[in-house]
Amino acid sequence: MVTSTFQQDTQFQSDGDLEQVVLFDDRENVILISKDHVFQAHVRSAVQRIKSSHKDSPITERHVGMDEIAKRRLDGVGQKAENVIDKTEMQQHAAALFLRAVKMKASDIHIRVSERGRCQVLFRIHNDLTQIEQHPYTWAHALCTTIYHSMADVSDATFEEGSRQDARIGNKNKLPQGLDGIRIATTPMVDGFVMVLRMLYDASGASNDLRELGYNANQTARIAFLKRRPTGLNLVAGPTGSGKSTTLQRTLASLIEETEGTRHVITVEDPPEYPIPGAVQTPVTNAPTEELRAAAFQQAIKGAMRVDPDIIMIGEIRDTPSARLAFQAAMTGHQVWSTLHANGAFHTVDRLVDLGVSLELMTDPAILSGMICQRLLKTLCTCKRPFKSMFDHYKEHRPNFDEDLNRITSILDIDDLYAQGPGCDACNQTGILGRTVVAEVVVTDNTMMGLIKVGKLNDAIEYWKREHKGITMVEHAILKAQKGLVDPLLSESIVGPLDGGKSFLQSAALPKA
Ligand SMILES: [Zn+2]
Repeated sequence: MVTSTFQQDTQFQSDGDLEQVVLFDDRENVILISKDHVFQAHVRSAVQRIKSSHKDSPITERHVGMDEIAKRRLDGVGQKAENVIDKTEMQQHAAALFLRAVKMKASDIHIRVSERGRCQVLFRIHNDLTQIEQHPYTWAHALCTTIYHSMADVSDATFEEGSRQDARIGNKNKLPQGLDGIRIATTPMVDGFVMVLRMLYDASGASNDLRELGYNANQTARIAFLKRRPTGLNLVAGPTGSGKSTTLQRTLASLIEETEGTRHVITVEDPPEYPIPGAVQTPVTNAPTEELRAAAFQQAIKGAMRVDPDIIMIGEIRDTPSARLAFQAAMTGHQVWSTLHANGAFHTVDRLVDLGVSLELMTDPAILSGMICQRLLKTLCTCKRPFKSMFDHYKEHRPNFDEDLNRITSILDIDDLYAQGPGCDACNQTGILGRTVVAEVVVTDNTMMGLIKVGKLNDAIEYWKREHKGITMVEHAILKAQKGLVDPLLSESIVGPLDGGKSFLQSAALPKA
């Protein structure tokens, strides 16, 4: 049974004080604010709450002395600021929402607050957004304000719905069991704002064996080889939400465990996602603009290199300066791990060219030692159905199903295949149990990099497949579909047509296990 307890909100313990400095006079639609307390955070948020709950009428602020507020209150005027929205009740709503998200294995909660339409609460579950609740504007606004002010370890003093803000809930008393934290990001929309809450699950009990994420034995062994090398840059590529951070976190955690704390591991993350026991994790300071954020990130990498690290993890290579710094770190005798946006392991080369890294540098296998790429495929629950039993349904709902079927049967035996089931208690009625990695793992060597250097990328890939037993993400997906682990059509929506792996089948008999 998952339970959680909540501490009393401390920010508003001075409600008595708030009553003395803020008063809403509904006869004149005016908020009286003590002129000495106008800019205090809890006062601003109380004013914001009053305004939000009176959207229909324009409300003015008047800055007065505390004696005038006291006088009007004695006259029986006014609404107590703190009563406009019940904070305790809102915190309970938020807590219930977090608990529900954990039970449904959601990775994110989106709260879309629109002044025009209704406000939606959505969960991202196995990468798909699902609407969970709808609320009136005032309610949703109050929910977000409460989460930001009363539950988060706030980085900016007040919640400004018109600007981009980040915060984090780290207080275990405000989190359901199973969560290590919640990362909050708000962004303005045309007619409101959206608050996205990333659920940071407690991974302390999780195994660091990459095979549990979906990597196969050969891939895991090659990553283990990269971990043992004293220097070199290893990059994990993939789009947002492809599980790169989890792979890096597990890799570093196992590395620290295996070396029994003898290596100085330092990370530079914006922001740190998961705790890595034994690593020095450096957060990057909040900065209001992209430029300042990038500058702070570079500063943090330089800082990390100065404190005698053995292993550096850079959260993301996202621009030319961070690419340059990552290579610099690898060239000065460090083992470096990072992520970047690229569509395949060998696409890493193109991406690095775009970022201004010289071909000379990146084709030195002593410097760029590993190129990994991954995607996540949904894994089928035991309520899965034989693929064949779905033909009538597909014929009705998929315009090109005959084509799909031809393509898939040209590669796989239809009797081996399964499709997403109708849902059961085990999978929260989704048909999906979780997600599994399909990956490409490339450990570079002189021959491979020599081919890339002279522009023979396809030869390099053939060499990798032949000599290193490399498999592509599509081929990895085929193997998992054949085992009935993933739905072939759902998988194609992530990795592309499965017949992209045809040559793989011609060159080697498809292993059954
Ligand atoms: Zn099920």
